Amino acid sequence: MSSSSAYRRILVKLSGEALMGELEYGISSPVIGQIASELIAVVESGVEVAVVIGGGNIFRGEGLARGGIQRVTADQMGMLATVMNALALQDALEKQGAVCRVMSAVRINQVCEDYIRRRAVRHLEKGRIVVFAAGTGNPFFTTDSAAALRAIEIDAQLMMKATKVDGIYSADPTKDADAERYDRLTYDEVLDRRLGVMDQTAIVLCRDHRLPLCVYDMTQSGALARIAGGDTSIGTIVL
Ligand code: UDP
Repeated sequence: MSSSSAYRRILVKLSGEALMGELEYGISSPVIGQIASELIAVVESGVEVAVVIGGGNIFRGEGLARGGIQRVTADQMGMLATVMNALALQDALEKQGAVCRVMSAVRINQVCEDYIRRRAVRHLEKGRIVVFAAGTGNPFFTTDSAAALRAIEIDAQLMMKATKVDGIYSADPTKDADAERYDRLTYDEVLDRRLGVMDQTAIVLCRDHRLPLCVYDMTQSGALARIAGGDTSIGTIVL
């Protein structure tokens, strides 16, 4: 796909919670519709878009394990939750006319495609939005780590992490009025200052493979397309 944009291919990490909107559980139809339209705007600008989706709006392995379910089983349930979210996003994208493929790290191929890297890259080259589901396919990992892994595998030039605040802060800005916002950080600063933006496995993967990360406010309409188009004035960039 030809493009005059700053990036040829990006990967967007959406947490499961991002799909809830005002709900306490599950998927908000208007919210997922809005997310789909933001993703489509990026594809239409000529940038290839892959997505990794979490499952925290349905199940998280850690929480299930605390409730007594064996941890590996609990993580498998968490991974299956991400498949459900991926299917919902595919549906929302297709309703708006986009072409989407869900690829799962655990084999569930009556429901979606198996993850095969070369096939994923081919889909992207054809302008399809690829949603990676089931995380890494392994327990004890998170979908943040899966996002870093897939972004590196498919040679994305930027990983974007959608949050509800406009970047990385020294403390949680919703709880601490003195929290300082950063425009730019290095991965080592994120690790040293223990900024809880992603788990350390994900941060180290990004750092070691020189993958830039942008943390942005997904509730700000158009932010995704602006950043994908090279606007560095919004979000926090980690290099
Ligand atoms: N998970 C896993 N391996 C992975 C990715 C995810 O076992 O590679 C499980 C884990 O139990 C996790 C759940 O899937 O709690 C949902 O993913 P995550 O918590 O990362 O979702 P998010 O917080 O992004 O909604």
